[in-house]
Amino acid sequence: MYDESTPLTKVLDKREAKKFKDSRGIATVGDLLAYWPRRYQDRESNLAAARIGSYIVAVAEVKSATTRAMKARRGKMLQAVITDGSKDLEITFFSAYGHEGKLVPGTRALFAGKVSSFNNRLQLAHPGYSLLSDFDRGDRRDLIPIYKQVGNLHTWTVTECVRMVLDLLRESPEPIPEEILDRRDLGDRTSALRGIHTPQSHAEVDAARRRMSYEEAFILQVALAQRRARQSAESTIARSPRPGGLLDAFDERLPFTLTAGQVEVGRTLAAEMARDVPMHRLLQGEVGSGKTVIAVRAMLAAVDSGGQAALLAPTEVLAMQHHRSITAMLGDLAEGGMLGGSDIGTRVTLLTGSMSTASRRKAMLDIASGDAGIVIGTHALIQEHVSFQDLALVVVDEQHRFGVEQRDALRGKAAQPPHVLVMTATPIPRTVAMTVFGDMETSTLSELPAGRAPITTHVVPEGKPGWLQRTWQRIAEEVAQGRQAYVVCPRIGDDDEPDEEAEIFAPEAAGDTDGDGGAEDSDDDAPPPRPLASVHRVHADLVANPALEGLRIEILHGRLPADEKDGIMRDFASGGIDVLVSTTVIEVGVDVPRASVMVVMDADRFGVSQLHQLRGRVGRGGLPGLCLLVHSGDPETPHERLDAVAGTTDGFELARIDLRQRREGDILGSSQHGVRSQLQFLHVLEDEDLIEDAREDAFAVVADDPDLTAHPRLAELVHARVDAEQAAYLERG
Ligand code: ADP
Ligand code: MG
Repeated sequence: MYDESTPLTKVLDKREAKKFKDSRGIATVGDLLAYWPRRYQDRESNLAAARIGSYIVAVAEVKSATTRAMKARRGKMLQAVITDGSKDLEITFFSAYGHEGKLVPGTRALFAGKVSSFNNRLQLAHPGYSLLSDFDRGDRRDLIPIYKQVGNLHTWTVTECVRMVLDLLRESPEPIPEEILDRRDLGDRTSALRGIHTPQSHAEVDAARRRMSYEEAFILQVALAQRRARQSAESTIARSPRPGGLLDAFDERLPFTLTAGQVEVGRTLAAEMARDVPMHRLLQGEVGSGKTVIAVRAMLAAVDSGGQAALLAPTEVLAMQHHRSITAMLGDLAEGGMLGGSDIGTRVTLLTGSMSTASRRKAMLDIASGDAGIVIGTHALIQEHVSFQDLALVVVDEQHRFGVEQRDALRGKAAQPPHVLVMTATPIPRTVAMTVFGDMETSTLSELPAGRAPITTHVVPEGKPGWLQRTWQRIAEEVAQGRQAYVVCPRIGDDDEPDEEAEIFAPEAAGDTDGDGGAEDSDDDAPPPRPLASVHRVHADLVANPALEGLRIEILHGRLPADEKDGIMRDFASGGIDVLVSTTVIEVGVDVPRASVMVVMDADRFGVSQLHQLRGRVGRGGLPGLCLLVHSGDPETPHERLDAVAGTTDGFELARIDLRQRREGDILGSSQHGVRSQLQFLHVLEDEDLIEDAREDAFAVVADDPDLTAHPRLAELVHARVDAEQAAYLERG
């Protein structure tokens, strides 16, 4: 008998087991059972969808079969026609040997192969097949699970392996409490696994899927509930601003009035920081909604109370910009201890990975001594041996690259748990927030400060004559009016891999190279796309372009030395540079009010939310923003993703579109490594009710039994999940 931890090498033959391991990372019985069919097929399938170049898996009946001697070679070839009752497809084997006896008229089989054309007729040359009589093993099934190929193993071989496992599977221990199973009308785990892999009906699949998805959601939520419980049992120092202190002085100097939303969020943060339980709050707000000033006010409150605050940014460029703009916002308040500085002032210190050793050492001393009240940095803040004198507040800006583990690492820098504020401009659908940030409270800034101008977005197909040149002229026109432009490219040099910060998408024509795409997938005969635009190439082209003559065009990317990056950003911010050709290093947070146009090259290679973030860099200074999304695809076909970005500035809507296009697992920010660290079953967008139920149940279970002593199997799975996430984090570095 097997259980889910049994290695597959004990179950399958060695070569097969190795294929599962090598091509899908499937090593145990549990992993194999978690390898779900990609779809289910009725016994009557439809060949009408077969197109040249597509890989199909279909049930069909042999209508006729003939063998004949070949002219040029010895042996016989077999030609047969298979049919679904209305559409026929030819199949050909150049050696009839071994097939002749099986593929006789009337035989029904599952066929798999790539559709080609011969004499103007669609055919499958040398398809793989499995006779339904073999497949059924005497137990006729109306639904046929179709798995993605594993190495070169066809779906029916996967089915065979899964059945072997299921036949000898011991009853799986149940992680979900009995009472919940009854109340939520969920089946037991073992039956669900059978329902997924060997169902008799779609209803059985649905029930099984619901049960497994619930389990996944429940385990996640139990982990989050435990985090929450631990957090609220922690105690820390309450931090309140001093009357007449830094915060008051700052508020007096603010050149604008806070929006009602900013005031309200500010109050919430102040109230939570004034408690001796650490704050854990997520602040969501559209691009440009003014989150930085909220963070600065909270940081000043922390400094007022005698502590320090750290602001963690995802990129060096953003860290430098924050350092610059926060120092400027504070004015003499940031000159604590310096001649001419304010008496109550503090110091704002920058710490990034590429600073010189000397300046880094200086920064670390200031941080350790407490002279630096506000510390701004990148990952370096987590990774280096940075110690704080008294870290009171951690602000994480633009969360999407900081997970739970990173937050923990920073929290670990304080003697007592600091208050934590995470800020993001990527709107997070509620259920995703519940899943990824389920251990935090959420605030949302919904209004933009007054005076924001709208951004107009157009899609520019490069293939349309004159359109690209018109784009460059447009930049020249803007610059002539005293404005500035960004040109964003997906990579640095022509020989470089795409930019690390960019979430590069495969071209849409690439289709599924991954085995069974079903007939729905596109062909892979599309012409190779032109090389991706690079910063260096585009810069050279623009400098040589007569339309842009006399403009100052510079480049910015992550590989430039830190001081050079800083110099370029300063120059751009002060208007010395007209056009900045860059990678996505400018994606988040960069704030240059006079920049009014953005051109994104190969925009189809970027994610929807990423494009939304990018264009948030323009239209900030009361000037209408213009964003041009250039792509080199077919100029006559509408581009769905880019049209969506052009069609709305509602970040929420775009986030949903974005999520739908990603593999669900990536929502958790985990990398591809480790099958177990991703969401396997749950569809975060669709399974909203289920996630809510699971959350309610999970929090109730943890409230009753925080250490899960009465639920050993649940405790085991929760640990496994948390460990896998940590392992994925360590792997990513
Ligand atoms: P984001 O939420 O995208 O991080 P920022 O904090 O960078 O936005 O703010 C964008 C710009 O709006 C900044 O230049 C900031 O100074 C300005 N700003 C913030 N709050 C207000 C306000 N209440 N009124 C006017 N301008 C504001
Ligand atoms: Mg920001």
